[in-house]
Amino acid sequence: MTTHTHPTLPEFDYIQPKTLAEASQFLAQHPDEARPFLGGTDVFVRMRDGFLTPKFLVDVKNLDGTNDLRFDPQAGLTLGAAVNMNRVIASPDVQEHYPLLAEACRLVASYQLRTRATVVGNICNASPAGDTIGACLALDGVLHVHGTGGLRREPLATFFLGPGKTTLKPGDIVTAVSFPVPPKGCAGAYLKLGRNKLSDLSLVGVTVLGSPDPGLPSRFRFRIVLASVAPVPLVAAQAEAVLAERAVAPESIRQAAQLASEASTPIDDVRASARYRKLMVRNLTEMALTEVWKKLQK
Ligand SMILES: Cc1cc2nc3c(=O)[nH]c(=O)nc-3n(C[C@H](O)[C@H](O)[C@H](O)COP(=O)(O)OP(=O)(O)OC[C@H]3O[C@@H](n4cnc5c(N)ncnc54)[C@H](O)[C@@H]3O)c2cc1C
Repeated sequence: MTTHTHPTLPEFDYIQPKTLAEASQFLAQHPDEARPFLGGTDVFVRMRDGFLTPKFLVDVKNLDGTNDLRFDPQAGLTLGAAVNMNRVIASPDVQEHYPLLAEACRLVASYQLRTRATVVGNICNASPAGDTIGACLALDGVLHVHGTGGLRREPLATFFLGPGKTTLKPGDIVTAVSFPVPPKGCAGAYLKLGRNKLSDLSLVGVTVLGSPDPGLPSRFRFRIVLASVAPVPLVAAQAEAVLAERAVAPESIRQAAQLASEASTPIDDVRASARYRKLMVRNLTEMALTEVWKKLQK
């Protein structure tokens, strides 16, 4: 057996379709052999490491609308699939209306990587550790999917089925993710714990988005999404419910953080133990909720 100390990419054919229809048709005709790709920062690494061996890589970066980043005060934000994370961070519209999304992108690896990496690639890779997924879920993201049957919309809330598994079928291409206008007066935070501060995947990630909501007993609504502690990005629904029912205060925040920790089902792996991760979910959730609560009171 040959051991490659410096593994290289296996051979593949590069396909550059001219239209979405052509791309979907090609992908549907080669369900086990073809894969779409954007920045390639997940795909190429997984190919190099032998986890993926596609015969065809279908470049979907230059297809209709995939490079658009548009904000409309009524419709909200549409982020084309090919828009890289540095463009998201630099967008004045994102900075003004969706700062949580910019904050999450900023915590992905390095500037260099973010010139390639996309939010849609992060979503489609469906890693429970994906740093931008929590913000996308908290902001009620909806995917625009082009398949052999045409275009459809798919809420992110029901998209993830397991690590690397989504509702996408052969031929499906995500062309964009869109977000409604965020609730008035909202504030958010993303806290990421990694083994180092540079370029590491999260051991635990906690996204919190809070907003005034006069219809709730507490008069505030919180969204809490956890990364790296379950097979899919996890919405801590019971913790959210406590903060909808009870007055927001250090005690209810602590209770919510404890419930978030109990909802998490992390695994032991080389990067951290399950027990440590559970404790960190509690601590980071409490910190993120406290930070957001302070912002909401300003
Ligand atoms: C050094 C390094 C550091 C990293 N650090 C982080 C980090 O800190 N945080 C983090 O979250 N991630 C990190 N990653 C992972 C990766 O960079 C991100 O997940 C990135 O967002 C993927 O985007 P991409 O455009 O490169 O996706 P790609 O690699 O192009 O695609 C990702 C997956 O989505 C599928 N896909 C791509 N486009 C589409 C489409 N339009 N429709 C349907 N399916 C599609 C592909 O087939 C593939 O399975 C890191 C990767 C590297 C190499």
